[in-house]
Amino acid sequence: MDGEIRRTPAAEVDTGFKDENDEPILKWTRSLTEIKCCGEWLPCSCFTNTCQHCEADYNMGAQRLASRSQWGEETGESVDDILSVDDHGGYNGYGE
Ligand SMILES: [Zn+2]
Repeated sequence: MDGEIRRTPAAEVDTGFKDENDEPILKWTRSLTEIKCCGEWLPCSCFTNTCQHCEADYNMGAQRLASRSQWGEETGESVDDILSVDDHGGYNGYGE
């Protein structure tokens, strides 16, 4: 269903290099958030990720962004301001 979010866990990646003890040098990659849009999983690996079907924009946290023409023009808010409002809403009903 559209709007569904999934996260792939961070993973160790073998860089192909060995350290002085001949141990492979692994680096951790960031976990990836994907959101389902237009029936396809859209990887949110960039600051802004655009669905190639409906041109919806999502940030790295798979939060839907307002259409670009509206960014900051009417409200004077930055995209970060708008998104932080969403974050605070998540505290409602937390706990008892
Ligand atoms: Zn879409």
